[in-house]
Amino acid sequence: MTLTIPFDNSYARLPATFYSSQAPDPVKAPRLVAFNDDLARILGIEPGDTEEMAQVFAGNRTPEGASPLSQLYSGHQFGQYNPQLGDGRAVLLGETVGIDGQRRDIQLKGSGRTPYSRGGDGRAWLGPVLREYVVSEAMHALGIPTTRALAAVETGEPVYREAVLPGAVLTRVAASHLRVGTFQIFAARGDARSLKQLTDYAIARHYPDADGPMGLLAAVRDAQADLIARWMGVGFIHGVMNTDNSSISGETIDYGPCAFMDVYHPDTVFSSIDRMGRYAYSNQPDIAVWNLAQLATALIQQVETPEDTVQDATEIVHAMPGLIRERWLSVFRAKIGITEARGDDHVLINDLLDRMAAGQVDFTNGFRALSGEAARDQFADPAVFDAWAEKWRARIESEPDPVAVMRRANPAFIPRNHRVEQMIEAAVNGDYAPFDRLNTVLARPFEDQPDHADLARPPAAGEAVAATFCG
Ligand code: AMP
Ligand code: MG
Ligand code: MG
Repeated sequence: MTLTIPFDNSYARLPATFYSSQAPDPVKAPRLVAFNDDLARILGIEPGDTEEMAQVFAGNRTPEGASPLSQLYSGHQFGQYNPQLGDGRAVLLGETVGIDGQRRDIQLKGSGRTPYSRGGDGRAWLGPVLREYVVSEAMHALGIPTTRALAAVETGEPVYREAVLPGAVLTRVAASHLRVGTFQIFAARGDARSLKQLTDYAIARHYPDADGPMGLLAAVRDAQADLIARWMGVGFIHGVMNTDNSSISGETIDYGPCAFMDVYHPDTVFSSIDRMGRYAYSNQPDIAVWNLAQLATALIQQVETPEDTVQDATEIVHAMPGLIRERWLSVFRAKIGITEARGDDHVLINDLLDRMAAGQVDFTNGFRALSGEAARDQFADPAVFDAWAEKWRARIESEPDPVAVMRRANPAFIPRNHRVEQMIEAAVNGDYAPFDRLNTVLARPFEDQPDHADLARPPAAGEAVAATFCG
């Protein structure tokens, strides 16, 4: 069988100012360690034999129809503008239009140096590759918009980080890799022509009903507002919400130092480089608004009626906090079994969250337990829960089936940090059983899977992961 990818590469048809043509750098001894058959089918890909797929997804062989390129972008990193970033270790092979009619990028990440590598080696090590594979697929199963993982390959070459580590390449699939930073670079250069081409391209690809730059801005706002509310609902901390990691399509992108919270606390930070807590759990809504303001600033550079447009853009951005709050409320209402909204629901929800923080309750298990008998046992002092539960039971009395609502909103399984770390350690030692098991269990996160109850347990004292790294 020959691997067949039905490429149709729209980005490569854009002007050369948008990217650098760039073939992946071959590696020594590629070995396919993961391939996502379900996703391949959606993409319209016919798998080949393992050896051929290892060659293609390592970047050693360019598949027929690909037009490999690295994309140009800039962005604000931790609030500081960096005038040139770009794909420093990634190559877009091209796009397919899947059996669902959706156009998606197929990108190799960790495939060697590019014109945008700056000081970097263009490589990734196995840990972050498997982390992104597991966590992005888990996010998809949780119903949260995200890039996905098609394949992972070990390169057979060492990568030098804090230690000598096995190299790997991830094949990432995305609705597109357009970011806020893709717009910022042309705005910063005063290249109104490219900005207009990019705006037209983004509208055609993602929001065909949007009217002009301001229509695009509003559509991105809505998609991002929905995304951030969903992150909050599963205790996800992205960790590096720079504008170059903020997707125009509204997908979660760039699984570097991301992590799911175990014990709930609004100030939780995992990323070792986020020393000020800029990207802490509860800051994510504000940062999403800040990032949208950067997109607005870029988009207004191309219009002919600047004053009116600035006013429109300001209104669009200023409406975002309210939209996130609305989406957040609808996510958290479902988490406590409410379908029929009332004006003071936020009081009940925030009261529970405050009690969970004070009681050091595991975010995932605390909410999951609401649909069972033992929710109070999640609290160090069960009386703290009882006081809240009295008001809550009265509130959901009129709900037809709150348990069913909660079981669809509160997963039993998330990719817990310590399990991800244990999985990586095993894989580095050649054992992929934990990787396979995590993928299997996390594909059905809302089902109790009693045989895998250990994966739902919070970390024991010695297992907790204190910090995560960009890789
Ligand atoms: P990130 O923080 O992952 O969004 O990456 C920020 C920028 O650094 C992007 O332009 C990446 O392509 C680039 N980058 C990250 N790691 C490497 C690497 N190992 N080699 C070259 N460029 C890299
Ligand atoms: Mg990035
Ligand atoms: Mg990254």
